[in-house]
Amino acid sequence: MRVTYLDHAATTPMRQVAIDAMMPFFSDRFANPSGSHRFARDARRAIDESRDQIAELIGVEPGEVVFVGCGTEADNQVISGVAGVPVCPVVEHHAVLHPVEARGGRLVGVDAAGHVDLDQLADALDDRVGVVSVMAVNNEVGTITDLAAVAEVVRARAPRAILHTDAVQSACWLDLRTIAPLVDSLSLSAHKFGGPKGVGVLTLRHGVTVDPLLIGGGQERERRSGTHNVAGIAAMTAALTETDAHREIENDRLRTLRDRLVDELSDALDGVIETVPRDRKVAGSAHVCLDGIESESLLYLLDEADVCASAASACASGAMEPSHVLSAMGFGRRLAGGALRMSLGQTTTEADIDRGVEVVAENVSRLRRSAA
Ligand code: PLP
Repeated sequence: MRVTYLDHAATTPMRQVAIDAMMPFFSDRFANPSGSHRFARDARRAIDESRDQIAELIGVEPGEVVFVGCGTEADNQVISGVAGVPVCPVVEHHAVLHPVEARGGRLVGVDAAGHVDLDQLADALDDRVGVVSVMAVNNEVGTITDLAAVAEVVRARAPRAILHTDAVQSACWLDLRTIAPLVDSLSLSAHKFGGPKGVGVLTLRHGVTVDPLLIGGGQERERRSGTHNVAGIAAMTAALTETDAHREIENDRLRTLRDRLVDELSDALDGVIETVPRDRKVAGSAHVCLDGIESESLLYLLDEADVCASAASACASGAMEPSHVLSAMGFGRRLAGGALRMSLGQTTTEADIDRGVEVVAENVSRLRRSAA
């Protein structure tokens, strides 16, 4: 039986165009782009063309694009590489949250839908603040941030601070050209939009200086040393190009499927609580709390039935602690303990929704019966 994959927020299957774009760089075009012979120049041309294209798709200048190893690296670099106090909402991905905490930064609360509290944000800002990082889309619950409102507060209260956004969960759903002009810096990760794992982008607006995490060969104009992942960069470019071209149509298609998934689950079961109103979140995100259920037990049964979903973010699953995101949104232990994230994407079909509803409803009922 086909696996029902409802975990696109954890990672996406690679798009065929991305696989095709990678292959030549594992054979004929294997050269190191930093070399001086013509094979090296060929590889360098591939990097230059990718940079131009990625810049166009994000809406920045080619010189503002830094190719990095993953979303975590991009986030870490901005938080660690800027002097002054870092600030972020408490619901950030750990790739932002942990370095902010490690540097003694300030954490800001959110409302019940996961939106950063703008008054608290304003209170946390002063001229000691070096970087403010606010995610564009939350990886657990799918909340979309009003970055224009965030930017207004940050520019007014800490005009010298760098405003960064972790846009890792945004590429499939939001036109990045609407995000980039609002911020000084953003991060992307190829495996969230049909590209390979282990490659990402950090944009840095001209004039913004961030210390490198990796020093050595001086690649990426001293901003990120290390031999380029040419195959990964070419594949990421192909994946983002296709994602951008189909974004609007995929948003409509997947919103319809997501709504059906949640509506049918709510019809089939009592105690299905949607954590974020649908008009505040991305189209592919279905996130609910199932009253009286422990996520770990449910995920085990779903796995047995070849249905892939998740509880909190992938990195945190397996941990018994309730999600830091749901806790910050005001969910108590009981409800937060029954969180289920089903995230849709490019390969999701109607059959996946039918099977998802059937298997989740059946196993939630089973767990509730056995607990009674
Ligand atoms: N930021 C967000 C919002 C994410 O969802 C993820 C991945 O789950 C990351 C950062 C980390 O990206 P990567 O897996 O490329 O390190």
